[in-house]
Amino acid sequence: MIDGNTKVCGLIGNPVEHTLSPLIHNTLAKRLGHHLVYVPFLVEDGAVKSAVDGAFALNVLGLNVTVPYKGKVMENLVQIDDLAEQIGAVNTLVRCGSGFKGYNTDMPGLCRALTREGIMLKEQEVILLGAGGAARAVAFMCASQKVKKVYLLNRSVDKAKAVAEEVNRKSGRECICPMALKDHGKVPDGKFLAIQATSVGLYPNEKDVIIEDGAFYEKIHTGYDLVYKPGTTRFMELVKSHGGEAYNGLKMLLYQGIIAYELWNGISVSEEMALQVYEMLEREIYHEG
Ligand code: NAP
Repeated sequence: MIDGNTKVCGLIGNPVEHTLSPLIHNTLAKRLGHHLVYVPFLVEDGAVKSAVDGAFALNVLGLNVTVPYKGKVMENLVQIDDLAEQIGAVNTLVRCGSGFKGYNTDMPGLCRALTREGIMLKEQEVILLGAGGAARAVAFMCASQKVKKVYLLNRSVDKAKAVAEEVNRKSGRECICPMALKDHGKVPDGKFLAIQATSVGLYPNEKDVIIEDGAFYEKIHTGYDLVYKPGTTRFMELVKSHGGEAYNGLKMLLYQGIIAYELWNGISVSEEMALQVYEMLEREIYHEG
């Protein structure tokens, strides 16, 4: 029941209609017995500052930030966490003394998702597909988690080079090696963890896949697709049909939300609770049961 003690959290972005975050946070609040509601707020271009200031004035506990404001919102915060600063993107605002502090929970979310699947990044050789916002953040995460090497493949090779240069410089390690996507055959022989961070294969274009060539998939022991709709992408199918393990990005979505909820409420959410929320997400997205 909403009453005088109910805390408010929410999401700012444009569009926000299809977000799954209310399901994550309102389920957590209900199951944990917290007086908290989570609401999506559509914010028009040019209104980010007034939205953040207004939310603070209204005693909003915390906000998520989605496309297209993850970079823009950084101008309106009193503090920014080091990882978010390095990545250059904030997706979670936490109320502190005089304003909001910005965090990035997307990457810790991916890290927790990988760890829960038993995938360790340290000393791994990684193929990272894409050089957009998500891939850039994954590249930072790989550098900070001490992977051995990342082959960063993108259709526009200039973008791959720019991301590699920035991550190598900021992390002080020459671990990211940029390549053109069409040169995927030049990735050296070996067995790799491949992280698919392009939008290729995303519903409703689920017949598409970033690389068709079977020889490429022979080099992959584990494939992690950031796309989660459809639940099994063609990238995942190809990884599996060449003997690898494959996962979609739904657990990344889950854990970025859980980490935000933990930051807002100063708690840690049990794995059992996380899996209950995961099952709700699966039912909602894939209409199971
Ligand atoms: P973005 O910034 O728009 O980047 C898109 C990337 O996809 C670029 O590298 C782009 O290459 C590549 N691309 C698009 N169409 C292509 C095509 N036809 N052929 C080859 N490459 C193509 O998007 P983003 O924010 O990084 O998101 C990427 C994906 O990750 C999306 O599907 C998103 O839903 C998913 N994601 C999932 C989560 C999660 O929680 N699971 C979180 C964030 C993102 P060019 O640079 O050459 O254009």
